[in-house]
Amino acid sequence: MATRDLGHTIPIAESFYSIQGEGPTAGTPAVFLRTSHCNLTCPGWGPPGSPHGCDTTAVWSRVHARLTPDEIVEWWESEGWLRRFSEGALLVLTGGEPLLWQRQLSALVERLRALFYRPYVEVETNATILPTVRFDAFVDRWNCSPKLSSAGNPREKAYVPDVLEWFVDNSRAIFKFVVQSPSDVDEIESDFVKRFSISPMRIWLMPESTTRREFLDKAPEVAELAKAGGYRFSPRLQLLIWNQATGV
Ligand code: SF4
Repeated sequence: MATRDLGHTIPIAESFYSIQGEGPTAGTPAVFLRTSHCNLTCPGWGPPGSPHGCDTTAVWSRVHARLTPDEIVEWWESEGWLRRFSEGALLVLTGGEPLLWQRQLSALVERLRALFYRPYVEVETNATILPTVRFDAFVDRWNCSPKLSSAGNPREKAYVPDVLEWFVDNSRAIFKFVVQSPSDVDEIESDFVKRFSISPMRIWLMPESTTRREFLDKAPEVAELAKAGGYRFSPRLQLLIWNQATGV
């Protein structure tokens, strides 16, 4: 019996067909692939004393399945999602941190291309891991979401200047920051805009929120901060439409 080489598999937390809820392509139909595991924990966003804080931890920390690129493509075919790519749906690779699996994800996109599917590929990353040349060639947009000090990670893990510089130099990268308070925007200005000369046109501010109510409560203040700095404002359509439901 043939043994399965786990090195070719990707740990998957979930995959679903929905609409992109955040950033420049918000509102566009998309097939999401959420890989498991992250190199950060963002404890600052969780309840006091909790080792993990981000709103997707509960989802990405589970491994629904370890699948090869071929098995993922078969799964999507059986769900009817491959044809969505022909209709213009995005492929959104998210996590956790998908760059932990960039070798296997490159093979996945290669497999899709071999079948003549060429979706617009977006990758959502915390911008702490350098992409390979091979993976970068498959990505149409890098949605970088660097974590600010309010997320509570050790600075040296969450703020990696060499990697940030790589993304700043890549015209396919935008920067999307989760904002809790005006001091977050001060940090964005000093540690990102000024240090790396990033145009405000490449920066999206998004209210920190895990429920529809929280988003709506914080949105006016964050919208004013965006207006003041010339930044873009990002919605979180998944909260506005489905509130706390996941995989929809
Ligand atoms: S970097 Fe993103 S996925 Fe990872 S723990 Fe922080 S918010 Fe969650």
